[in-house]
Amino acid sequence: MTGAAMDTDVIVVGGGPTGLTLAGELALAGVRAVVLERQPVRSGQSRALNLQPRTAEMLDMRGWLEPVLDRALTTVPTGHFAGIPLDYDVFDTAFPYQVGIPQARVEEFLEDNLAAYDVPVLRGHELTGLAQDADGVTATVATPDGTTRRLRAAYAVGADGARSRVRKEAHIAFPGRDGRLSMVVADIVLADNGTLPTQWPLPRYDARDEQLFLVPLGGGVFRFLFGGPEQQERDRDAPVTEDEVRAALRPAGGVRPELVEVRWASRFTDAARQAEQYRAGRVLLAGDAAHIHFPAGGQGLNLGVQDAFNLGWKLASVVTGRAGEDLLETYHAERHPVGAGVLRNTRAQGVLVHPDEDVHALRETVAGMLAQPDANRYVAGLVSGLGIRYPMPGAPPHPLLGARMPGVRLPDGRGRLLAPPRAPEDMLGPWRERVGLVADAATGADAVLVRPDGYVCWAGPPGEGTPRTALERWFGRP
Ligand SMILES: Cc1cc2nc3c(=O)[nH]c(=O)nc-3n(C[C@H](O)[C@H](O)[C@H](O)COP(=O)(O)OP(=O)(O)OC[C@H]3O[C@@H](n4cnc5c(N)ncnc54)[C@H](O)[C@@H]3O)c2cc1C
Repeated sequence: MTGAAMDTDVIVVGGGPTGLTLAGELALAGVRAVVLERQPVRSGQSRALNLQPRTAEMLDMRGWLEPVLDRALTTVPTGHFAGIPLDYDVFDTAFPYQVGIPQARVEEFLEDNLAAYDVPVLRGHELTGLAQDADGVTATVATPDGTTRRLRAAYAVGADGARSRVRKEAHIAFPGRDGRLSMVVADIVLADNGTLPTQWPLPRYDARDEQLFLVPLGGGVFRFLFGGPEQQERDRDAPVTEDEVRAALRPAGGVRPELVEVRWASRFTDAARQAEQYRAGRVLLAGDAAHIHFPAGGQGLNLGVQDAFNLGWKLASVVTGRAGEDLLETYHAERHPVGAGVLRNTRAQGVLVHPDEDVHALRETVAGMLAQPDANRYVAGLVSGLGIRYPMPGAPPHPLLGARMPGVRLPDGRGRLLAPPRAPEDMLGPWRERVGLVADAATGADAVLVRPDGYVCWAGPPGEGTPRTALERWFGRP
């Protein structure tokens, strides 16, 4: 297929939160993208129920947060680590809390948003094969009318979830371990008998597994998560039965649940795996296609959406010829360690939630440690995404270097992040047209160069020379 005409610039496989965010980023940068989604219609089911502060900041950066907040159910004032509260107030952020919103509503916004940019989401289209050559990729796609179609593009991104076909086609290894713990997630309707929770709780764990984790989703529907010894004996591929859910709904803490209906239910595990490489030539992976882990602390969707914000502008720069392919190498270099960190912290949480007297003692000890400000800041930084710091080779040291740019509201009210460009002409030189994100805001630095994903890639006094290396590295050679 070398030399064949391109149908589009980037094929995004998977219309979950990761793929839809990525396609939005590409569209904003003027790159043509097509999203392939095998489900003919949105299921309306939600695994995730939250946005972490860093995801909220990034959506806000693009002016996409407000419509998402319009669809949210609540805010949750803290984060948590295995149910131990984490204080997000210690961060300089406009969003020191979790946004309580079902995943389906986030996806609904992201897909509607793509329509505004004329990005096609081809539903009922399943990727069945993917080949690459020196010039591009060729996707084989099963279409709803039963025919097979071939699509040609410069790059493909696998945002096609845990069992990613793209990952397999690109021969990218997915090392890690299978699940040891099996649990059930269910959305259920309960009779309103005056005992049901009205606030979103943090999960609580005790030594004998006698907690009931019920999250009110409105209209009598509750999110119910349960595990326990019986679940470990069951076939992980067997459908969840209503009897199983009913049996798990034991009264606890004054709540007496009476089951009316199971809306949907599925099993999940604490399997932990991560793609060895996030890039193989012209094929990249993002979201669950690149990493799976125990959903403790509410991080998976957030990690995937943040992968997309890291990859989108880089891919757009390369596709449009503004930057060389080496910019794409930084995607793996930056996001693989962040993903590995989430696998690590969720494995640790998986240990801490075991119903066992000794583990309970360990939990109490960890809870005591997390009450210390420095420990809270470190762990809250991991779970919220606010603690991410990317290596910025070649840039002079600075407290802000590699960290997220603290928020500054744009004067036109269309987004938050940075003041309008105010860097002196001689500092940016020929990059001026490309670099829209420079601020001399109240950051303690005289000048800050910020990448399109909101991370500081150079900071320092203008008198100390131009940030030429950083400009070349992140914004390409003019
Ligand atoms: C019980 C549970 C609770 C969770 N709670 C949270 C939480 O509170 N907070 C949080 O942040 N995360 C949570 N997660 C994790 C979160 O749901 C996932 O991390 C998130 O869905 C990943 O998004 P994604 O877009 O990468 O993948 P997915 O959501 O899996 O989307 C992939 C898409 O690709 C499509 N697809 C697959 N194969 C193909 C193909 N061959 N061709 C075309 N399309 C294809 C699929 O149909 C799907 O729509 C939870 C997970 C579980 C299991």
